[in-house]
Amino acid sequence: MDSGRIVWAPHVEHGFILGTITDIGSTTITVQPTAANTKAITASYNQVFPAELDNKKEADDNCSLMYLNEATLLHNLRIRYSKDKIYTYVANILIAVNPYHDVPALYNQQQVAKYKGKSLGLLPPHCYAIADKTYRDMKVLGLSQSIIVSGESGAGKTENTKFVLRYLADNYGSGDDIDKRIVQANPLLEAFGNAKTMRNNNSSRFGKFVEIHFMKVGRVVGGFVSHYLLEKSRIVMQNSRERNYHIFYRLCCGAPLDIRSKLQLSSPDNFRYLRHGCTQYFIGDKEAAKVKDVLSDEEKGGLKDILLNDYADYTKLVGSMKQIGVSHDDMLDIFQVVAGVLHIGNITFEEGGDSSGGCIVSETSAKSIQITSQLLGLDASALTEALTTRSMRSAGESNTIKVPLKQEQSSSAREALAKSIYSRLFDHVVSRINQCIPFQASDGFIGILDIAGFEYFEVNSFEQFCINYCNEKLQQFFTKRVLREEQDLYAKEGLGLIKPVKHIWTLSQKTLLSDLIESPRTGILDILDEENKLPTSSDHHFTSVIHLKHKNHFRIAIPRKAQLATHRSLRDDEGFLIRHFAGAVCYQTVCFFVEKNNDALHNSLEILVANSKNKLVSQIFKSSQTHSTKGKLNFISVGNKFKTQLGQLMEKLNNTGSSFIRCIKPNLSMQGALFEGGQILSQLQCSGMVSVLDLMQGGFPSRAPFNEVYSMYKAIMPPKLKRLDSRLFCQALFKAIGLDNEDFKFGLTKVFFRPGKFAEFDQLMRSDP
Ligand code: ADP
Ligand code: MG
Repeated sequence: MDSGRIVWAPHVEHGFILGTITDIGSTTITVQPTAANTKAITASYNQVFPAELDNKKEADDNCSLMYLNEATLLHNLRIRYSKDKIYTYVANILIAVNPYHDVPALYNQQQVAKYKGKSLGLLPPHCYAIADKTYRDMKVLGLSQSIIVSGESGAGKTENTKFVLRYLADNYGSGDDIDKRIVQANPLLEAFGNAKTMRNNNSSRFGKFVEIHFMKVGRVVGGFVSHYLLEKSRIVMQNSRERNYHIFYRLCCGAPLDIRSKLQLSSPDNFRYLRHGCTQYFIGDKEAAKVKDVLSDEEKGGLKDILLNDYADYTKLVGSMKQIGVSHDDMLDIFQVVAGVLHIGNITFEEGGDSSGGCIVSETSAKSIQITSQLLGLDASALTEALTTRSMRSAGESNTIKVPLKQEQSSSAREALAKSIYSRLFDHVVSRINQCIPFQASDGFIGILDIAGFEYFEVNSFEQFCINYCNEKLQQFFTKRVLREEQDLYAKEGLGLIKPVKHIWTLSQKTLLSDLIESPRTGILDILDEENKLPTSSDHHFTSVIHLKHKNHFRIAIPRKAQLATHRSLRDDEGFLIRHFAGAVCYQTVCFFVEKNNDALHNSLEILVANSKNKLVSQIFKSSQTHSTKGKLNFISVGNKFKTQLGQLMEKLNNTGSSFIRCIKPNLSMQGALFEGGQILSQLQCSGMVSVLDLMQGGFPSRAPFNEVYSMYKAIMPPKLKRLDSRLFCQALFKAIGLDNEDFKFGLTKVFFRPGKFAEFDQLMRSDP
């Protein structure tokens, strides 16, 4: 790093900007940006990175750049994105930047056919190349494979997952129904588990691992879907610019009249669970007819996408359900429960006016009680009683007494009931899908994980805690695998044993998981369960126990120490801060953190629904009969259930080969051709890509195939040398120029350089012909 050198300097908006070093201090470097009228930037040494000599150069694989660092990575992505090259490799890891517009040339049938059987790197980077690699690895190594797709909401995880699934089904399917069923499971999952949010109009509100199973000869034989952490709060409450799950609107707007009248459905405006959210949706019968037949194409185009979709998507959904083998009756049963949930939301309560202090069902919602009971197979008066009272068994007495509930207690019982029914219905939909894609035997599978990346909002609660815990585990796995891949590559190229490892970093991640989150009794998950089981649990008490037990752990702190501008100030017993691999996150506990860890309904409600006359309702509640703990609430731990599921997932991942697709959201406004560097850089950091670059610095991060080196320099070499084959050419060249043996290694197909040495060599070549 000398004065006059062209470098990347940090910049809040763009991530990095190009400039020239003008001053070098003892701890900082000053850079004069190349762009006109831009003030000089002074930054510490580790924030300034060498730039490529050719600023317009882009590379399919970042590792073939001369300098591998976060600034050149970002710049490479930027140049490529401007040419609709949304995919880029870092070694075997695929980065995908959401184009926010259709790029048919990338995904047409010719492309699907083109990638079949081709090694990674032969063709431009693509999720198809990753899909094909996993298929070939599975066949050749006889080892199941997984593809881990990650990124923040709206980054393109689900779209890429679908492309991969379709690619595998198209190229390696058995040609019968089963391939189609696996692909068609998606619209069904999305109808029940996706919603419009501010970040993504079709945001998955659950995580999934989709396995597609193969036989050695018979190709695709079946599949299996596991799902994680459906967002339950959305069922009863949405932000004013977001919506509830798609299925609700599709039924209200898209279902034919006979179904809607049977389910007593009408405009979404008539339902409390829908009307507070975003209200762009309704197509009544007349409007629907208009859209279909009367409007010209131009006029249709003018309608908001979302308006049209609720109508059209109902038809598509019914088609998908039929295709995967859900019978018409089963479908109607499922819809009936969905409608029941909507009607539950319309039950309201008011003060009873008697001395008990309890509440009663409002007169205006008497009809809702009737409809709900009828749809869900319940007795109306039993439902009323279960919502307005709670059974208690006082100490030492054998009979229970009914305690009247206050208005807000009844309201919260109602929301709990709706959430519980819907989330169990979602479980049912997933297991119904699994019944439709069964397999007797399988020789191996390719599993695709589509789960939310690291989350960090203004207010972070239990949901963020779970998802970040999961990402902490995945990150640990990612690091381990990337290091192994590096070592495998070195071995394959005959370089011998080279350790590209920085141990400390991986270790500290492990302690976060094992000491702080997962450890029996003292881990946050267990402390949380203990709190749930207390007769009077409280968020404050839970928080203080955490701080007490982990006073001196360097990964956790009290909110006071957070000093993060985005957080509203919290008292110490209102939250805790965790230093994750991707940054510090302050979790606010006083927003029902403890309550959210409980999946159980209170006793009377549980008994009510478990004994429903509606077969589907009683079935979805049968599987989870719970026992009350000391006359208090039932308790089913969400956190520890997730820990178990995650454990099983990690075991699967550990026993399979793995590939990674890191999805990137280019901007916050969901529009094409807008590359917000600062945003993107922080995603590269959060996804662990930057740490990967750091890790690779320990080994030989820059790689150039022999023939590439040959064509770069042949023009300036004497004719005699030019006649050599490319490998010999490189060897002769390196010897002649006197490169230090420590700085590079010859593999079978490539030269490997220590960090920055490729560029030094290049400069040497050009300055000294
Ligand atoms: P995530 O699952 O990461 O939250 P999605 O996969 O749902 O994000 O993508 C969000 C939206 O971005 C999609 O609905 C689609 O409009 C657009 N999108 C994502 N990836 C692509 C792609 N490869 N080509 C075209 N559009 C895409
Ligand atoms: Mg998604």
